[in-house]
Amino acid sequence: AKRKGKNRLEIYNQDEHESNEVDFALENDLHKAIERGEFSLHYQPLLHLRTNQIIGVEALIRWNHPKRGLISPATFIPLAEETGLVVAISEWVIEEACKRLKQLHTEYPRIKMNVNLSTLCFLQHDLVESLERLIQKTNVDPRYLEVELTESTLMPNASFAIERLVQMKQQQIKIAIDDFGTGFSALSYLHRFPIDTLKIDKSFIRNLSSYRGEAAIVKAIIDMGRSLNVSVVAEGVETEKQYKFLKDHGCDYAQGYYISKPLPFEELLLFLQEWETE
Ligand code: C2E
Ligand code: CA
Ligand code: CA
Ligand code: CA
Repeated sequence: AKRKGKNRLEIYNQDEHESNEVDFALENDLHKAIERGEFSLHYQPLLHLRTNQIIGVEALIRWNHPKRGLISPATFIPLAEETGLVVAISEWVIEEACKRLKQLHTEYPRIKMNVNLSTLCFLQHDLVESLERLIQKTNVDPRYLEVELTESTLMPNASFAIERLVQMKQQQIKIAIDDFGTGFSALSYLHRFPIDTLKIDKSFIRNLSSYRGEAAIVKAIIDMGRSLNVSVVAEGVETEKQYKFLKDHGCDYAQGYYISKPLPFEELLLFLQEWETE
């Protein structure tokens, strides 16, 4: 969806009248959601395919709206990005994720935490300082924190992005490119970004068995990851067939409903316990 003049509300609904009402209300509620404690994080495990170990989790935000129930981040993150609220929300996300990471490390000292960072957050002039402050405040080891960025965040100004990524790497934070393969443009730049991980977009995984083209793309990304010396994660792994394909072709990690859906923290703890004893 595209912004249309000043009437940004058209993004959310073709029916202009209805969408105006709905989204002003939603935007208003979004302002208060942090202080009202309506956000929570769910955590989706990442599986290391060679050793069958859970090596990390991705933090995914949830908004429990008092009247409307759960609202998907696919709905409210774009709104938060438009209004600038995403900066405050991210601050909350990163702090909460770091606290949980610290807690996880008492029992699982090697587990990693992935967090998503939107474009507006990536462009904040004080991003690196904020990250530093949150890392110090929560006392986590930054080597176990990985920030996920999309190609569309990085590409419009690649040289700025490289500079910023280098600063984050100096803090020992890890970097992943999210939804990889959907942006088309990053290939020629890829080796210039100091990244640790490529996450293959789930659209390629979904069609893995039905379209031969997808299998070729996935194999090519896995090979490219190997030659660039970055880890490759397949997202949206839902079936045993997909899982086997990825394992057989040397993909490093898998994430998706086949392994686990995103879980509230307490359920994640139970999941990790059971996984260990299997
Ligand atoms: P994403 O970063 O690409 O996250 C992966 C999405 O795929 C998640 O949707 C996850 O629940 C879903 N998923 C996981 N496994 C499967 C599977 O096997 N099949 C399918 N079909 N889907 C699967 P979710 O949680 O609704 O998040 C949607 C998007 O919202 C995320 O996409 C990310 O771009 C954004 N988002 C989520 N949390 C945050 C956050 O804390 N900050 C920011 N800036 N964005 C966030
Ligand atoms: Ca992500
Ligand atoms: Ca993704
Ligand atoms: Ca996405």
